[in-house]
Amino acid sequence: MAAVQSLDASRFGYLKKADIARLADAYRFSKAAHSGQKRQSGDPYISHPLAVAEILAGWHLDGQALMAALLHDVMEDTSVTKAEISETFGKPVAELVDGLSKLDKIEFQSAEDAQAENFRKMLLAMARDVRVILIKLADRLHNMRTLDAVPPAKRRRVALETMEIYAPIANRLGLNTLRHELQELAFAHLYPLRYRTLLKATKSARGNRREVVGKVEAAVKAKLGETGIAAVVSGREKHIYSIYRKMVEKHLSFSEVHDIYGLRVVVKDVATCYLALGTLHALYKPVPGKFKDYIAIPKANGYQSLHTALIGPYGVPMEVQIRTELMHHLAEAGVASHWMYKDDTVSLSDLQKNTHQWLQSLLEIQNQSGDPHEFLEHVKVDLFPDEVYVFTPAGKILSLPRGATAVDFAYQVHTDIGNRCVAAKVNGELVPLRTELRNGDRVEIITASHAKPNPAWLQYVRTGKARANIRHFLKTMQYDESAALGERLLEHALRGYGVALGDIDDVNWERVIRETVGRTKRELLADIGLGKQLPAVVARRLVMRADAEPKLVTKAASIVIRGTEGMAVQLATCCRPIPGDGIVGSMKKGQGLVVHSADCTAIERSRRNEPEQWIDVEWAPSPSRLYQTAINVMVANQRGVLAKVASEIAESGSNIDSITMEEDRAVYTTMLLVVEVQGRQHLARVMRALRRLPDVKKLSRVRE
Ligand code: MN
Repeated sequence: MAAVQSLDASRFGYLKKADIARLADAYRFSKAAHSGQKRQSGDPYISHPLAVAEILAGWHLDGQALMAALLHDVMEDTSVTKAEISETFGKPVAELVDGLSKLDKIEFQSAEDAQAENFRKMLLAMARDVRVILIKLADRLHNMRTLDAVPPAKRRRVALETMEIYAPIANRLGLNTLRHELQELAFAHLYPLRYRTLLKATKSARGNRREVVGKVEAAVKAKLGETGIAAVVSGREKHIYSIYRKMVEKHLSFSEVHDIYGLRVVVKDVATCYLALGTLHALYKPVPGKFKDYIAIPKANGYQSLHTALIGPYGVPMEVQIRTELMHHLAEAGVASHWMYKDDTVSLSDLQKNTHQWLQSLLEIQNQSGDPHEFLEHVKVDLFPDEVYVFTPAGKILSLPRGATAVDFAYQVHTDIGNRCVAAKVNGELVPLRTELRNGDRVEIITASHAKPNPAWLQYVRTGKARANIRHFLKTMQYDESAALGERLLEHALRGYGVALGDIDDVNWERVIRETVGRTKRELLADIGLGKQLPAVVARRLVMRADAEPKLVTKAASIVIRGTEGMAVQLATCCRPIPGDGIVGSMKKGQGLVVHSADCTAIERSRRNEPEQWIDVEWAPSPSRLYQTAINVMVANQRGVLAKVASEIAESGSNIDSITMEEDRAVYTTMLLVVEVQGRQHLARVMRALRRLPDVKKLSRVRE
């Protein structure tokens, strides 16, 4: 097929003359920049940006957007710069082109990353200027229309991406006509055989029923006319992909899918919609449970209509949509109808507001989580709106995704309400917060001023807003807890120098903060609490002056074993004996006396085979000395568990010397802690304190 090779001004007739002239300039500029380039189909490259601009002209987009569409690939594929575009076509056009180029230019580590990251960038670009996304969608539509020319492997990837990312975005923006075409094309490329089979089945079913459908359409027109209702009645073709989804989701055979035939009735105002509905229900029996009032309660993307299903002649069911002309425009073009139908200001401004709010909430979620996967998880729920509608005590309607709970509702009302909710009433009855809400529920949230979000909520909330807010709160809280713990640990460590935390002057603080990674005192304290900095080390640095060595108030006693004066003594690091343990020692060349716990497994064999090497030794009393010993702690793999463990240890008057954690994401994780204790009794106290923690499942001293 030969591509259009010039700018057809008649397609842009809604623009001002001056705009059309500038468009022609942009066309020539783009054509020159892309000259010599060919598409995979063999067409000159310029045919693609031109087609994209024409799609956008169908939505009556403004001159800037159309120029950007013509230029959308020049920065990427040619040597043209943003500055050049800005100079020639103005800054707004350059910004749009730049936004589009950035969307394409991201480097990815994996296919999954690529998607999450791509998605995030796209939504953020959209939040800044929705025209960027409209151009991107038109770009994708043209690429999908010409996908046959692309090699099969790439075809699949593009089709999948269209299905998973572009179609949902089009849906969220209410661009239904575009969404349907994207879905049909993507489905046809992803499942060619299924598509062809269903296409054939639908065609023949329609052929068979043409007479019946015609009869119903005529009867409806006549009846509406009789009643004095002016209406445009038209047949509606159900999309192949919609039929397929219905078959898969409801486990239906093709013949069981009802709405292959549909009628659409467009009338002048809302009151007439309900009149028409009454008239149709009098003409044919309605299918029970099929009536939906999306006029009273619009879908999240602004869609409004009355839906009903009628039982026509010979029992053939038929879906009917009734809507006003304005609703019809919105249903077809969604957010793009802002440009298409500039007169319908009232309802359109509502849609704009709605879209704007949604985009704003995306930015909020983005600010709270930098991780693209987390972002994707948050947003996915919002993009696939299978919704329930519930009421606030004041009678305001809120829409939530299906499966949403009272907690989601609370966050939907206000972040503060969510953060402080403690209980909920649904239709006047007290229910657990995890209760799933149903259509029409009246929900009341009970808050308490000191209540806090619970990590367990993350297991059942459904909305991105609730999830992002809970995570955000927990992260902040964890940080606060860590800083408080760090302060306690540091205080304890400073006691060894006879110094209180308040005695440290700002100069010393600043020096130590500079030397360590932290930027602020709080950050340094949090690092200590999280185990990233050792309290003993930080304490030493804090009391140290630039000119003096630190003076220890209590110097560690050197004699730990009775009768070893003048002898080098080491406590073995395999079993880390502490006072109270039975101990044995062995003289090692160059190491002195190495002392093990009597039940150390590492020396079992040597004690059996060379008993003469081992001597029984005894602890010498040295009350101020602390001894290192190791314990294994198996804990539930929960957020903040380390902070809790560390805080119990500090409370028991012990220090943590080091922590080794299994890099395991299972339900339980094991930590190897080296702690400082005075002896067995002290260790027993520490272990008792740890056992009290519900997260601690198993606890043992390390003996080898
Ligand atoms: Mn393109």
